[in-house]
Amino acid sequence: LYTAPGSTQPPPEGPDVLYFFNYDDLQPRANHLLRDAGDGLRLLDPDHDIVCEIISGDSATMDLLSDNIHDPEVLPRTLELAATCHVPENLAELNNMSISTLMNALHRRYAEQRIYTYVGDILIAVNPYERLPIYTHHLQEQYKDAATKDLPPHIFAVADRAYNAMVLNKRDQTFVISGESGAGKTESTKLVVKHIVELCRSGNTTLENKIKMVNPFLEAFGNAKTVMNDNSSRFGKYLELKFDETGGVLGGEMLHYLLEKSRVVTRNAGEHNFHIFYNLFAGAQLEGRNDHFAFSSPNSHRYLAGGPSDDEILHGHRYTTEWREVIESMHYVGFASADMNCVWDLLAAILHLGDVTFADIGNDASKITSSDDILKRVARLLAINETNLRKALLHVVQHTRGETIIKNFTDEKAVDNRDSMAKAIYTRIFDWVFRVVNELLDEEHASGAHTLGMLDIFGFENFKVNSLEQLCINVTNEQLQNYFNRHIFIMEQDEYNAEGIDCSRIDFPDNQPTLDLMLQKGTGVFGICDEQANFPKATDLTFTQKCTAGLSNHASQSYKAPRSERDLKFTISHYAGPVDYTTEGFLEKNRDKISEDVKQLLHNSSHSLLAAMFEEDPSRAPVPGTMRKQPTVLMGFKRSLQDLVKRLDACEPHFIRCIKPNATQKPANWDAELVERQLTYAGVLETIKIRKRFKLVKYQFYEEPEESPQTCHEIAESAQLDNFQLGSNKIFMKYHHAEVLSKEASKQS
Ligand code: ADP
Ligand code: MG
Repeated sequence: LYTAPGSTQPPPEGPDVLYFFNYDDLQPRANHLLRDAGDGLRLLDPDHDIVCEIISGDSATMDLLSDNIHDPEVLPRTLELAATCHVPENLAELNNMSISTLMNALHRRYAEQRIYTYVGDILIAVNPYERLPIYTHHLQEQYKDAATKDLPPHIFAVADRAYNAMVLNKRDQTFVISGESGAGKTESTKLVVKHIVELCRSGNTTLENKIKMVNPFLEAFGNAKTVMNDNSSRFGKYLELKFDETGGVLGGEMLHYLLEKSRVVTRNAGEHNFHIFYNLFAGAQLEGRNDHFAFSSPNSHRYLAGGPSDDEILHGHRYTTEWREVIESMHYVGFASADMNCVWDLLAAILHLGDVTFADIGNDASKITSSDDILKRVARLLAINETNLRKALLHVVQHTRGETIIKNFTDEKAVDNRDSMAKAIYTRIFDWVFRVVNELLDEEHASGAHTLGMLDIFGFENFKVNSLEQLCINVTNEQLQNYFNRHIFIMEQDEYNAEGIDCSRIDFPDNQPTLDLMLQKGTGVFGICDEQANFPKATDLTFTQKCTAGLSNHASQSYKAPRSERDLKFTISHYAGPVDYTTEGFLEKNRDKISEDVKQLLHNSSHSLLAAMFEEDPSRAPVPGTMRKQPTVLMGFKRSLQDLVKRLDACEPHFIRCIKPNATQKPANWDAELVERQLTYAGVLETIKIRKRFKLVKYQFYEEPEESPQTCHEIAESAQLDNFQLGSNKIFMKYHHAEVLSKEASKQS
């Protein structure tokens, strides 16, 4: 905001960041301002310590300013215009940063649809919840070699920086994209891929296109509507692209983590099953294949009830369009039609399987009460023997010490067994999809010189009812936050220590103790759950009580016991807030067993694809005569988490922090409380604090001193710092030096 020459009006007050220009002060510097007009104007408020950068990119404002800079009549209003619409694009350049200035800066930018902002080299991306015209091919061209240009913050610039760093510095790079569910991680990942593909375009165009084309069908199989996000990823994925020395893409590998398979058979209220089921219905209708799949109405199937209405699915535009996209993209990437058709049969079979019902017949046994037609359909679509299917649904045959025992299922057990079968088929389809994608993206098994990784996981979740799935999702996020902390804060401090420099700790919310609470060997929540899952007499209650006994006084203080010791509950204080977990079903979910008979049945299918999916993995089979523990879900999860961290640790990270502006998934809707909470737990403010710049202590705002040890030395001397040490790349200072520099910088300005 500007006060005109001679104005007696005080600058407006308020919580906003103020840009206050005094014309008298500005006039003598006008030449310098003009000097910079090509790549941006730098304006200085003489009474405050804020430098306002007016960056080019908004050419209309720039032209206006350049034209009017000498005209005291017109300048005031021009500046006012410019000042109200520009907040610095890298918030690390602001002095005196507080949560409210940070909030204001982001809000202001958000209101102008500037969703990207830098904090040092971290990109903050606020979900616009609407398509913005900022991802065009033209813009992509502009953002090539972004580092040499003065362009507004953009995810393309981050992609460009990483790509160039990989090619030039020959180091593996990774994008760590984090944020709550619905914050925009998956969309951001797609944008990164889009730009990387654009950057390396030259060589293998088909491969490049294939890499982009996997998304439609991966999302169909792995995403679903939740209360937080209409297109929520229900699995984690890590895409690793391999490149040759010159930056040409050679192939890709895609890892996936923890598909939320329970969604196939049950969901919280208001949530949907995986998109692909609805797509399949729409597709069957479209292609006249209802008879083949024996489909009538979607909502008549137990596994689909409570989702979108039949009308929406069958006659709406959405699911049909998605179906076409799935088919096209799978074809493009190279899936065989026969395999795809087999998968559609399997999906249809899952839906019919869900309609098989049971009744108790006493003696801990049950019978099938649903019509025989249903069973016939399932057997036909799975290409298995109907009689054997019936048997496998009602009992399991156990062979112990030369004896064969038939163990009947109670009706309750039969339902569990049926659901396990459905979940197992779906998971194996999902695994298979990834296996094929990996073969197709890396046909030549190229050994790349360097890699670029992109991590897109399921975001932090806190529902009304949170189970083992949420625990795993939230621990993954906890681990990622830990990785961020280690990079931004701890590594910085380790560096000081390694140099023998004494420094007090930078205060940041360290979540290592909470991770330990979950993951520490044997005695953490996971360890207890594994031990109990392997103990036949254990129940969800004994598990919960063991957790309470062992962890109530944990150093992290992140475990809160339930009110009554008979409650199947506990609360974990995660970095992003406390979550109440309902421990009912934890042990069963962790054991995740499917009956040997079901496995065998499916392995004997005459659909060779299904048979192959249920091929026993010899490395997982228990060795006869040993007491080796049964592998559990959490064991596998922990292993893949460790593998992920190892991969990330081998790379140079680029952090993208996605922020959710509101909980209603609407554009132009700023929920300050929600945003502030995300910024706080993500440690954004602390990040700014350790990334300040102090050029102004010694230099005029328009000077651009060389980035050298000499410059650093001059700045430090000028502020009369005692006892600083100059390294070859960095200057090491005492903690209180930062304050001295801040004061000096504001005095000088
Ligand atoms: P997350 O993966 O973090 O759970 P998503 O990436 O699925 O979240 O984003 C949720 C929704 O928000 C998307 O389906 C899309 O509608 C919207 N969205 C996210 N990022 C953008 C963006 N950059 N531009 C437009 N819409 C976006
Ligand atoms: Mg997602």
